[in-house]
Amino acid sequence: MLLLGKTAVISGAASKRGIGRATAELFAENGARVAILDIDAAAAGEAASTLAPVGQGGHIGLSCDVTDRASCKAAAEAAIEAFGAVDVLVNNAGITQPVKTLEISDADWQRIVAVNMTGVLNLSQAFIPNMRDNGGGSIACMSSVSAQRGGGIFGGPHYSAAKAGVLGLAKAMAREFGPAGIRVNSVTPGLIQTDITGGKLTEEMRADILRGIPLNRLGEARDVASIYLFLASDLSAYVTGAVIDVNGGMLIH
Ligand code: NAD
Repeated sequence: MLLLGKTAVISGAASKRGIGRATAELFAENGARVAILDIDAAAAGEAASTLAPVGQGGHIGLSCDVTDRASCKAAAEAAIEAFGAVDVLVNNAGITQPVKTLEISDADWQRIVAVNMTGVLNLSQAFIPNMRDNGGGSIACMSSVSAQRGGGIFGGPHYSAAKAGVLGLAKAMAREFGPAGIRVNSVTPGLIQTDITGGKLTEEMRADILRGIPLNRLGEARDVASIYLFLASDLSAYVTGAVIDVNGGMLIH
């Protein structure tokens, strides 16, 4: 019960096989009250209703488009009204697209950067004042091994750029808000078996990726959820501005 009595907000946590959903499940199993924020409002509510029950109040599902400041502000107001203090924010929402540099349209660039990077700023801005007023908190941000090795897994260069931007943003927020007791860290997963690849990951690509992974398996959503749990809990009380690899050894540096 690493999160007993804590409250947590997780973006992009509605999809059934996703990392966010696995994180919500693990957090609830560890005693946290969870708010699932997702662009798919119906799925967010459904996901919240399936989590392990906690004492008072229960979990909530909220509609939130992380690319939209007003939507983030509204979701934050609803979560804060339900929970009072929010202890943990997991900036997990993201999308990808397997294209090459010369194929990236202006719309592709805007969309990938907006969800993966601007969304982290929008949601952090919406929750940091509450954390600061309540003496601190923990923010975990989703980056990717693509940011560190320049793609070559699935997402295109715009995805690598957005996820690399997350690392800089998270480190800067860690520096700025450390004195307020707010820790900010990032996770950089390798290939995790979820539906984000939208059926576009071929068997050949999969076999090729597997050859470069010393632990000889692709990642599971729960592998990343466990790292989020560590970062959310007091086990990581002296960790901020860190980047934690969850890649089976795909990138050792
Ligand atoms: P997923 O598609 O299962 O989950 C993504 C979730 O984000 C979905 O529930 C989706 O509805 C939600 N979402 C999309 N756009 C949104 C928006 N604008 N506002 C709010 N919610 C939105 O995929 P996943 O693999 O679980 O991805 C979770 C995160 O992990 C993403 O940031 C992704 O880039 C990152 N990641 C994934 C992998 C991988 O191999 N699966 C590797 C590294 C990083």
